[in-house]
Amino acid sequence: MHDPDCLFCGIVKGDVPATVIYEDERTLAFMDISPATRGHCLVVPKAHAADIVAADPEAVAACSRTAQILADRALGRLGADGAAVVSFCRAAAGQTVFHLHFHVVPRYDGDGLELPWIPQPGDPGDIAAAAKELI
Ligand code: 5GP
Ligand code: ZN
Repeated sequence: MHDPDCLFCGIVKGDVPATVIYEDERTLAFMDISPATRGHCLVVPKAHAADIVAADPEAVAACSRTAQILADRALGRLGADGAAVVSFCRAAAGQTVFHLHFHVVPRYDGDGLELPWIPQPGDPGDIAAAAKELI
């Protein structure tokens, strides 16, 4: 259930201090120590799993539900204008802590955060070829 070398398992167990804002049977949510915006928090499954692909689907579903609750609170209680919910899978995607987590990043009009990519039209053939592999 817990990985002794995992930072977020340490937070789940209460061994590592964190500002916990939500807990249920399967998930825990706590404030990010380096927030992108006011209210940035992280949702984790209590059972260790490295990332969204490695995790039990029910743990992913439980984390999604908790992220939904916290995004709703960001809008309703912090006055956020929107919220970004994101999970990075593996180092290539930017993951730095290898215990599944969803970032819930409240977004405020004019907060200056940008997408990690610049949207521009793709090659239709490449899009179709990738789609064939994903179906
Ligand atoms: P990742 O880059 O893996 O998607 O996100 C890891 C997140 O964990 C980062 O946003 C980082 O600020 C946060 N973080 C790293 N160490 C700690 C910690 O000890 N406590 C808390 N609360 N957040 C942490
Ligand atoms: Zn862990």
